Amino acid sequence: MFDSLSDRLGGVFDKLRGRGALKEQDVRDAMREVRIALLEADVALPVVRRFVDQVTEKAIGQSVLRSVTPGQQVVKIVNDALVEMLGGDTTPELDLNAAPPVVIMMVGLQGSGKTTSTAKISKFLKDKQGKKVLMASLDVNRPAAQEQLKVLGEQVGVATLPIIAGQQPTEIATRALQSAKLQAVDVLLLDTAGRLHVDQQLMDEMKAVSAISSPRETLLVVDSLTGQDAVNVAQSFSGEVDLTGVVLTRMDGDARGGAALSMRAVTGKPIKFAGTGEKPEAIEIFHPSRVANRILG
Ligand code: GDP
Repeated sequence: MFDSLSDRLGGVFDKLRGRGALKEQDVRDAMREVRIALLEADVALPVVRRFVDQVTEKAIGQSVLRSVTPGQQVVKIVNDALVEMLGGDTTPELDLNAAPPVVIMMVGLQGSGKTTSTAKISKFLKDKQGKKVLMASLDVNRPAAQEQLKVLGEQVGVATLPIIAGQQPTEIATRALQSAKLQAVDVLLLDTAGRLHVDQQLMDEMKAVSAISSPRETLLVVDSLTGQDAVNVAQSFSGEVDLTGVVLTRMDGDARGGAALSMRAVTGKPIKFAGTGEKPEAIEIFHPSRVANRILG
């Protein structure tokens, strides 16, 4: 992932590495390349500006120019700034500190990978954290949606709420909660309906489900391949519901990393998981420092 950005930044820093003492102009030239690399990676323009300004100021201010290894210092400053931009040093964990059943509400547009991610996170919680998990699909618009989650549930060995035709999303949510309580489930994942675009009906439905189920986590699933669009979607959703985090899917096919890089800065929401393939185990906890390292190569 991030090959092109990594290569580009690598080229810039190779040039700096080759120098002894740097001039202020060398730093500015390098930052121009960083700026182009970030824009090409589809990072949002205001984010790029802020990033480049910060890094330039630090690089020029921190006696980098007089240092014997100026290139390395600039690389470190850029690395630290990337980590910060991706969410900081700490790994954002799922917050499951509530009386069980702890509810995780999954939201997102159709095709973003929401249902797949619901199954992946359920499997993750079952296998890695020993949790008893129940999943329920509240998607009554797409006829096959509930069935799809059921099939995925069977694949990953996680129970799904039995399907009752004709129920509304809030009714299904209520039934899911009751069932989760009766079965002493630790974590209940609610897979809400997707839409092609953000619309009012979708938002109202999400709010109603949220009011009934009081989710501890509301995770927005977005497709990293859509770059800045993913960030725009995140912005629209976070204006309507209290998002607690983002799941960035298709990171396996994302060579640029623009969505990851702008997400935190634009939305203020941490990326909690990265989807890295179609298989149920293809999900990783998002580690800002690892991703920053990968970008710098
Ligand atoms: P939904 O409409 O948002 O529920 O989307 P789905 O969960 O049905 O996913 C749509 C397609 O994207 C499916 O074919 C998934 O296998 C695929 N998909 C989901 N997440 C990932 C991922 O992280 N990487 C890749 N390569 N494919 C994914």
